[in-house]
Amino acid sequence: MSKTLITIALWALAGWLLGAWLGAATGWAVLALGLLLMVIVSGLQLSRIAHWVRNIDAPPPPSVGPWDEVLAPIYRKLKQNRLELQERSRNFHRVLLAAEALPDGALTLAPDKSLLWCNQTAAGHLGLNPEQDRGHSILNVIRTPEFAHYAAQETWDKPLVLHLGHGGLARTLMLHLAPYGVGQFLMVTRDITQIERLENTRKDFVANVSHEMRTPLTVLSGFVETLLDMPDGSLTHEEQRHYLNLMAHQAHNMQALVADLLTLSSLESTPNSEGERVMLANLIHSALEQARALSKGTHQFTLELDETLAIHGKDTELASAVGNLLTNAVRYTPTGGTITVRWQPHPQGGAVYSVQDTGIGIDSDDIPRLTERFFRVNRGRSRATGGTGLGLAIAKHVALRHDAQLEIQSTLGEGSTFAIRFPAARLCSRAQADASPHTEAA
Ligand code: ADP
Repeated sequence: MSKTLITIALWALAGWLLGAWLGAATGWAVLALGLLLMVIVSGLQLSRIAHWVRNIDAPPPPSVGPWDEVLAPIYRKLKQNRLELQERSRNFHRVLLAAEALPDGALTLAPDKSLLWCNQTAAGHLGLNPEQDRGHSILNVIRTPEFAHYAAQETWDKPLVLHLGHGGLARTLMLHLAPYGVGQFLMVTRDITQIERLENTRKDFVANVSHEMRTPLTVLSGFVETLLDMPDGSLTHEEQRHYLNLMAHQAHNMQALVADLLTLSSLESTPNSEGERVMLANLIHSALEQARALSKGTHQFTLELDETLAIHGKDTELASAVGNLLTNAVRYTPTGGTITVRWQPHPQGGAVYSVQDTGIGIDSDDIPRLTERFFRVNRGRSRATGGTGLGLAIAKHVALRHDAQLEIQSTLGEGSTFAIRFPAARLCSRAQADASPHTEAA
């Protein structure tokens, strides 16, 4: 402003001097001309400033006379504000990214419980479309009376567990509301479907084991009490042997169950390892001895074994799977049946151990459930032959730990084939299928 006043004073001085020399009219004319020039220059400067205002991020125009003093501090302030804003927006973005990366779902709700924001996980959990559902009440999204009741509470000490969806889409969510900001709410969602499923499996397993143990224990303790209550000498020698045999059978069932439970537990608790070179045919021969003892000569065994075919694996685990399939074939094949055991390279790579029987077979509806723990098609027959209901679960577990597949084919009343197919990567070097199978009838 001082510059402007000085300029006006200079024009007034020039007008006064020229007026004193050339007459008053000239002096006034010079002053008027000076003021007019000042107005024109000012106008030009203002238009440059107006142009700058439209693109305010650029530095202000240079040399705009008295406006220089005004524009410089404004521009400095603007620049500082812009930097602060950028920093804040970067921080905001970082917080948003962190919220997106949370393994849990997070939503913010307005005081009327309408949706303000949610991360992708929450959108997935609740089937939300963040764009479309923003501003809509969360009660319209989660339409269950339990949630309405929970949301109506004043405070939320505990989370709410909700079962949503049906069938294959069923999921269990844990929701926790908390006050947030001014009158707003933060809701955290967690998918606990798997955890709940595992917990149910664990409970079922404990219940099944207890049930399996209770039956032989009840029978055993019943016999013991009966024998104790009987007066001395009231049982013949044959009767005593009969009772003791029944008791031994129940004790054997319990032992078998405990042994299978220990095998399962060791399969679950030991890490998967490459293992060592295992000649599967040797394991098959050992298992055959037991199978023949069980069969007591009532079945015919046929072998098609490639004696030189070796795989990488754990021999104790493989022995258990090999033995389970063989003893099952004996137990579920009536007298006179044939059991064919094969261990051969597979034409499409890898190798297959299979046990084919001409036994009772399995209904196609039951086949998918055979490897479930404690599943039996015929509980009575399984128990009577010393079954634990865990054999195939163990065989499947062992197969998976060797990158192999347990394949089951069966026709009710005609017989079954249980096979474990190992991938080529599991075969030891000689392996790759050059040997022709050697056939032996036993
Ligand atoms: P289990 O100890 O009862 O035999 P498994 O897990 O070995 O338990 O087998 C589960 C069920 O599968 C058996 O109870 C039986 O019903 C059926 N099963 C297994 N192997 C055969 C087979 N070779 N033939 C017919 N049924 C079989």
